[in-house]
Amino acid sequence: MILRVAADGCTDVAGVIGDPVAHSLSPLLHNAAYEAAGLNWTYVAFHVRHGLASQAVDAMRSLGIRGLSVTMPHKEAVVDAADIATPSVRALGAANCLKLDSEGRVVAHNTDGDGFVNSYERHGDSIVGKSIAVIGAGGAARSVIEACGRAGAKSVMVINRSRDRADRAAALAGDVGCVVEPASAGMADIIVNATPVGMEASPGMPLDPALLSSTQTAIDLIYHPLETPWLHACARRGLNTENGLMMLLHQAAIQFTLWTGADAPIDAMSAAYAEKAG
Ligand code: NAP
Repeated sequence: MILRVAADGCTDVAGVIGDPVAHSLSPLLHNAAYEAAGLNWTYVAFHVRHGLASQAVDAMRSLGIRGLSVTMPHKEAVVDAADIATPSVRALGAANCLKLDSEGRVVAHNTDGDGFVNSYERHGDSIVGKSIAVIGAGGAARSVIEACGRAGAKSVMVINRSRDRADRAAALAGDVGCVVEPASAGMADIIVNATPVGMEASPGMPLDPALLSSTQTAIDLIYHPLETPWLHACARRGLNTENGLMMLLHQAAIQFTLWTGADAPIDAMSAAYAEKAG
């Protein structure tokens, strides 16, 4: 058990805004990282109600809050409230991270997609030249599609029940993006479930595992449960499988580095999650 040093007059403050926010794992991950890195920083959850995102961004400027993670329902509203948005944020129309820069400007970032790419590449594999099939066209899917296009994927195939959202999501990958039918997932190197299907509240399979084979990798962005029925079925068919925990850790790690300038202690963040999950 690590004892945290109490905040003092020099403590840098970061946090997460959302509504609701009490369930967020971000305070656990970021505080574990500050502790491991020996930084005099602290990270708190701010319950910011729907419609109050721009006031929260003003508070960053006035209170000198160094960084904010952003969760539902504020991911779109903070883009307009920030002073600068990265090209990815402008393309996605959504941000999950705000940084107060040295000139007092609030910069909007989106770390979800790069978190996905970094987590995939952490053992030396590369997205470059890979075919990726993404199931879903919501916020998580869009981040992954945009980042994979930017990271040099050969193709990014989008599978989604609503065709119009699929078309808009596929365009985020540029020339390598396209909309396909589920059967085409058999041609991908990596298949990503970016729908909530497989969580307790949304039972079922996002894609028939019989369409897939053992040369492929299946990644489920869900991390609660750690193994969805779909991921389990894919593993039984011999696919390499991974849940969403590594993407969660790596998107948080990017935020940590953006704010502090230090390398993120991913092992400490992972250990904190494991201790909490039991
Ligand atoms: P979202 O914006 O609500 O999008 C959900 C997508 O799933 C939509 O494209 C929707 O299709 C599709 N979908 C929903 N229910 C479906 C069903 N029953 N059958 C078929 N398609 C269905 O959600 P999100 O924020 O992108 O989150 C998606 C998942 O990613 C969640 O499970 C979330 O926990 C996970 N996630 C993980 C991480 C991580 O770091 N690991 C980060 C973010 C999100 P339509 O377009 O047709 O409505």
